[in-house]
This record gives sequence, structure tokens and C-alpha cells, in this order.
Amino acid sequence: MKESDAQSISLLGATGSIGESTLAVLELHPEKFSIFALGANTNVKALFDLCQKHHPRFAVMADVDAATQLQNLLSHANSKTEVLAGSGALDQVASDADVDIVVAAIVGAAGLSSTMAAAKAGKKILLANKEAIVIAGNYLLEAVHQNNAKLIPLDSEHNAIFQCHPLAQSKVNIGESHSSVKKVLLTASGGPFLRRELNSFQNISVKEACAHPRWEMGRKISVDSATMMNKGLEFIEACYLFDLKPEQIQVVIHPQSIVHSMVEYIDGSILAQLGSTDMRIPIAHALGFPERIDSGAQALDIFDIAKFDFIKPCTKRFPALRLAQQAASEKHVLPTILNAANEVCVNAFLNERLSFTQISSTVEKVMHDLQGENVNSLADIMELDAQTRVATTAYLT
Ligand code: NAD
Ligand code: MG
Repeated sequence: MKESDAQSISLLGATGSIGESTLAVLELHPEKFSIFALGANTNVKALFDLCQKHHPRFAVMADVDAATQLQNLLSHANSKTEVLAGSGALDQVASDADVDIVVAAIVGAAGLSSTMAAAKAGKKILLANKEAIVIAGNYLLEAVHQNNAKLIPLDSEHNAIFQCHPLAQSKVNIGESHSSVKKVLLTASGGPFLRRELNSFQNISVKEACAHPRWEMGRKISVDSATMMNKGLEFIEACYLFDLKPEQIQVVIHPQSIVHSMVEYIDGSILAQLGSTDMRIPIAHALGFPERIDSGAQALDIFDIAKFDFIKPCTKRFPALRLAQQAASEKHVLPTILNAANEVCVNAFLNERLSFTQISSTVEKVMHDLQGENVNSLADIMELDAQTRVATTAYLT
């Protein structure tokens, strides 16, 4: 039984960058939100500290050994938080009858199962985990629609599109086409290598790739931003969330990262959402929707902005963007291969087993090798994801 009128939240990916920003917004509104569960993978110390601070009913660690360690620490501290272990437990706290809102902030395809569980249980889902929608878009949206769930994007660009899209807002259940939308202008900062000499790309270090000029994020999405695979994944994400054809999305490099995306209508109007580069803004928007609540972020001073640049991206510099746009032309098979191969390659790059340029070249090879596969169910997607990881790993050795 719920003890108050506050909305009850399961935050999955609590120890990450989005998790931290979400908790910062929640702390500003203790009367509006209560934390039901916090979930993470292996970082015992970080989840222990969060449990001591936020006192969730449940703490879930996907890794079973990590869960045992957390249990020991919490028992010694006389904590009332109950520890659950394994990915099934993430699904459980995403679908529990006492939960109102699920923040899907796990990185990678590992977040799909709990996001699907939340959709099937009819929850309000705040979606940061773009990989889930990239690989299983139709299945996830179908589960959202069939179970009267609500899905609000947290990705800053998609949240901006949602904010500039009254028709999508009136449904909240997004994923429907609207003939009045001509196109979406999906903005990108261009990452740290927008102007770096192309012939030095093979020497790019992990440190350089993770040093994003505008956003502070987890390591995987930071590398994805450097290759622009992140924008590629977001391109596919936007196709699903707003039911757009690939030719209706124009990627626009906007190095200032003040305009977070735009929607162009058939009457010639273009609506844009502006704000400082702080994920607490889209998170507060999605938490409060349709109301507005304080995010704690610094307001943008419009007089501080000298100018806006808008540049067409170069796919020679950023081949990952070309690969993702190619994948977006079909549902599920190529996006699943692209995503899984990229996850393996980014991990190998972070472990210094692959060069920066080999990330995209390896993803391209794997897409070529596996492109004829068939997908007719969610189980097929998971099987293709696993098969792709094996095929990609074979290129690394
Ligand atoms: P991060 O690496 O900082 O955090 C990832 C979180 O996921 C951690 O809490 C980790 O414990 C958890 N996790 C990882 N693997 C897991 C598994 N197998 N099972 C359960 N939990 C697992 O990543 P992040 O930057 O917070 O990004 C999270 C997601 O949000 C990604 O999909 C990313 O693309 C998306 N996103 C992030 C930002 C940002 O500003 N950081 C912006 C837009 C979208
Ligand atoms: Mg984004």
C-alpha cells in the first residue's frame, strides 16, 4: 500500500549520470515523489551510498555477487532497504503495482527487459535508455499502447521535440504520425572532434573521446557522441517515437548546444526548445508533465549567447551516422545489429583493444555480415543481439 500521495518511482540506472541528475531533481520535490526502488549493475559502494541517503524500499543489483555485498553493507548499517538480485528483479520493480513512474536509465540493450516490463504494467516511463527503443521500437511502443502506459523521452533532443509537438503531447502515448509535421531538425553538438584533422582520427585516445565539450555523461554515450553514433541512435529513436520516415529527419550540427532540436510544420513554422546543457531540465519536464516543476538548473541567459551556428554533418568524418541512417531505413534487424556491434566495439575501445576509427569500420563489417537475418518477435531480437555480440567479438581477436 502506498503511504502518501507522492508518486512512487523506480529509478533503474541510479548510479549513472542520468541517475544522478534524476535524484538531484527528485530531492527538490520530496512532497511530489518518493523513491520505491533504485537499480544498478555492479557499483556496490555507489548504490549503498544512495540507499543511505534516499532510503528506497528496494535496491536492485543486476549482478548477483554485487547484490550479496550490498546486502551485507546494508545489514551492518541497520538499513530497512530490501536488496533484490538479478535482471528479473529489475523487471519486478519496474512493474510493481505500487510504482507510478519508471525512469529507464540503464545503458545499452540491458535496459530493454525492464523497460518492456514497465510498459506492460502500464507505467509512466521516462525513457533515457535509447538503445531499448532503437532495437525494439515497434514492440516497445505496442506494449505502451496496449497497456495504456505513458512514454516521455528524456533524451534532450527527443524531449525537445516532444515539447515542440503539441500533437504528440495530447496523446502522451507517442509513436503516432501527424501529417502536419514536415520534418524534425535533430541537433547535435558535433562532439569533441568536429574540427580535428581527419588523418589523426586513428590516434584518438579514450581520454580525448570521453571529454565531451558540452555534456557530462557516462563513458559509453560519451564515446558514441565522439563518433556521432549517438546521433545515429537518436535518429532511429526519433523515427520510432514520432513515427517519422528517415527522410523527414535532418541532423543539424549546432556546436553551442542551446537549441535541443526543432519541429518544422507544413505551414512553415519551426518550433524550437532552448535551454542550458543540463539534463535536469528534460528530466524535470518529464517528471512534472503536464505541469512544470523546478529543475534546479541554471536558467539560460539569452544575452550571453553571441550566435547560433547550424552546420550540415559530414558523414566522411562521422561514418557511424551514415551507418545508423542506413539502419533506420528498416525496422529492427539492422538497428539491432548496429547497436549490439557498437556496444561491443565501444567497450573494446574503452579497454584499448580497438582504435577509434575501428569502431565504425567494425560495426559496418558486422552489419554487412549479418544483414540477411530475420526478426519476427522480441525473442528474435534478443537472439540477434547475442549473435551480433559473438560475431563482433570475433573481429576483435
Ligand atoms: P552511465 O554509464 O553513467 O550509467 C549507466 C547506469 O546503468 C549505471 O547505473 C549502471 O549501473 C547501469 N547499468 C549498466 N549495465 C546494467 C545492467 N546490465 N543491468 C542493470 N543496470 C545496468 O550512463 P548514462 O550516461 O547515465 O546513460 C544512461 C542511458 O541514458 C544511456 O542509454 C544513454 O544513452 C542515455 N542518455 C544519457 C544522457 C546523459 O546525459 N548521460 C543523455 C541522454 C540519454
Ligand atoms: Mg541526446
